[in-house]
Amino acid sequence: MPKKPEDIIRDEIRALTAYHVPDPGGMVKLDAMENPYRLPPEVCRALAESLAGAALNRYPDPGARELKTRLRTAMQIPSAMDLVLGNGSDELIQMLALAVAKPGALMLGFEPSFVMFRMIATFAGMRYVGLPLNADFTIDTATAVAAVEQHQPALIFIAYPNNPSGNLFDADAIARIIHAAPGLVIVDEAYHAFAGRSFMPRLAEFPNLLVMRTVSKLGLAGLRLGLLAGHSAWLHHVDKVRLPYNVNVLTQLAATEVLQHRDVLEAQAAAIRSERTRLLAELRRLPGVETYASEANFILFRVTKADQVFSGLKQRGVLIKNLHGTHPLLADCLRVTVGTPAENTQFLSALTAILNP
Ligand SMILES: *Cc1c(COP(=O)(O)O)cnc(C)c1O
Repeated sequence: MPKKPEDIIRDEIRALTAYHVPDPGGMVKLDAMENPYRLPPEVCRALAESLAGAALNRYPDPGARELKTRLRTAMQIPSAMDLVLGNGSDELIQMLALAVAKPGALMLGFEPSFVMFRMIATFAGMRYVGLPLNADFTIDTATAVAAVEQHQPALIFIAYPNNPSGNLFDADAIARIIHAAPGLVIVDEAYHAFAGRSFMPRLAEFPNLLVMRTVSKLGLAGLRLGLLAGHSAWLHHVDKVRLPYNVNVLTQLAATEVLQHRDVLEAQAAAIRSERTRLLAELRRLPGVETYASEANFILFRVTKADQVFSGLKQRGVLIKNLHGTHPLLADCLRVTVGTPAENTQFLSALTAILNP
């Protein structure tokens, strides 16, 4: 007699609810921090030519050497530092967890933050501690350092800027946490293109620091490419749990090509940053809306009834993210990704209509 799934699947996996990605249909999609701009025709042509030459009959270069060289320049990775690539940064989080998950090993994160940290700790069988942020989404440094000393985490993840709050934590608070940490601290800079602050130039200062980046929020979410930069003493072990061909031929070629047109991506990021300023100013003028300043490509805001506002927006063809119910600090909070000027205007008029019936 074969056993039932409940006899075989681990308890903590059965207890999970699958990560829900809503179908946007024809809606204005402002829920997933995507760059709203496509690549210009001349870059698409160069890309098509490059991909046409792909040797799809061959396995990818397992070391992704050409792409790594390009990324080193594009992301200003210090030459003394090593590099590991992932199928999105999600896969890098998973590789780190797999590499350190001794029985009882612990991951520490701040909450609310990126939900994949906790999820992946569970997948890998690690314990997880989520330290609550202050009500203004800053880190309480003394409490954090005490928690690090108490829990002795193998991994600490810090999103910089933080998702879903959009703020950059105090750099000195992060430095004190890195100093107190017995294991690795990963500063996740997924939103670096919109923030202009980084721990990348400080890698040499801290032997237990890794900096994680992704091209997803920069405008290449469909490629699935993330990177981890840091000391090879750590990364050469992390690289052993990487599946040999995790970054496929098409991703390697496409990223190598597009990164030669970095000016295009940078101009798009600049347009998004300037729309972020406008969106924030307009949101602040609306009655009953509390906004949070953002160094990312999204804005967190609070209303009186988030569920109602969220479904009202949906009825008007605009999809954002409802965070109400996900964490006590996010009661009645919504998160909107900065879109094109037209999309942002459509979002603002729908929201205005809902708030002034
Ligand atoms: C979106 C996001 C990521 C995921 O990036 P991928 O490279 O697309 O897997 C990682 N960290 C944070 C904080 C994010 O918001």
